[in-house]
Amino acid sequence: MRALVVERLGGPEVLEPRDLPVPEPRAGEVRLRVEAVGLNFADILTVRGEYLTRTRLPLVPGMEFAGVVDALGEGVTHLRTGQRVAALAGHGGLAEYAVVPATAVLPVPETLNAAEAAAFPVSFYTAFFSLRTLGGAREGEWVLVQAAAGALGTASIQLAKAMGLRVIATASSEEKLDVARALGADVALLSSREDLVAVVKETTGGRGVDVVLEVVGGRGFQDSLAMTAFRGRVLVIGAASREPSSLRPVELMKKNVSVTGVWLTSMMGDAAAMAEAHAFLGEVLAGGTVKPVVGRRFPLDRTGEAFDFIMSRASTGKVVVEP
Ligand code: NDP
Repeated sequence: MRALVVERLGGPEVLEPRDLPVPEPRAGEVRLRVEAVGLNFADILTVRGEYLTRTRLPLVPGMEFAGVVDALGEGVTHLRTGQRVAALAGHGGLAEYAVVPATAVLPVPETLNAAEAAAFPVSFYTAFFSLRTLGGAREGEWVLVQAAAGALGTASIQLAKAMGLRVIATASSEEKLDVARALGADVALLSSREDLVAVVKETTGGRGVDVVLEVVGGRGFQDSLAMTAFRGRVLVIGAASREPSSLRPVELMKKNVSVTGVWLTSMMGDAAAMAEAHAFLGEVLAGGTVKPVVGRRFPLDRTGEAFDFIMSRASTGKVVVEP
């Protein structure tokens, strides 16, 4: 089978196409014929050795993917061959076949095609945990979604609307704001506006937003704190700008603001939270009104271009590789 193998840390140039034997599932594992891989910022950082966890080499990258169950290891009885599923496996997706623990397999609503199924797990679970589980967003509240046309942004807008929230979307271009509006954002603003905090305050009747989904970091983090309402919640999900943010805890006192970190990998260990997310996401995705937004698609041997495309900041929705 064709696979992309990484043996040294670096940029897209370290992704080596190789022919490898098709892997065999052991007890408790499942083999998938990979149809589509959702590419994440975290995949790029992992290959560079700059992610939250240490990168173990050699590595076949690709943390989230969708495919057809092709072979079952001993003891796996809840899946059947021929079934389309998604996997949140941490690595292994950028190949024609992948073996994953059965526990990393997620059911996929029949309303999703392969690319949509690959684009769903990371963004939608992270958006759900940020808004509901950790952000405690309640119907009628205002939420600010940064990088709103991106993979996580497009998922967050849709889930926020499904939860009855009011959405202010920010992004770096008018084209991206159009994407956010089309998904139901109530207000869409350029993130570069000098008067961003003032406009957000005005939009919310002087109160500020209840929840901020902070993914850019850097200088904008201070704005996130400044635009929150009394008892606002800032969810720190990412730092796409890779600029440092500063926080003086006393700044949080006056408005009783809380700042909470979000990491999907840790949340996946919380069975009750996962069950709540499964139930909510299953229902809204089956309804067909909420759908992962698939952006540009690349074949396996052009994954390096896909990495560059994401880093160029030109992508909208989830960039997908189809092995
Ligand atoms: P996106 O598809 O949203 O792409 C990232 C976006 O970040 C860009 O499109 C861009 O939007 C914005 N951005 C701002 N500054 C920069 C910069 N200097 N370089 C590149 N992009 C920049 O990515 P994802 O949806 O995959 O992820 C969004 C963020 O959320 C990332 O930081 C990611 O690491 C994080 N994340 C965290 C998870 C967790 O478990 N904590 C899970 C999933 C994602 P614009 O041009 O509009 O500013």
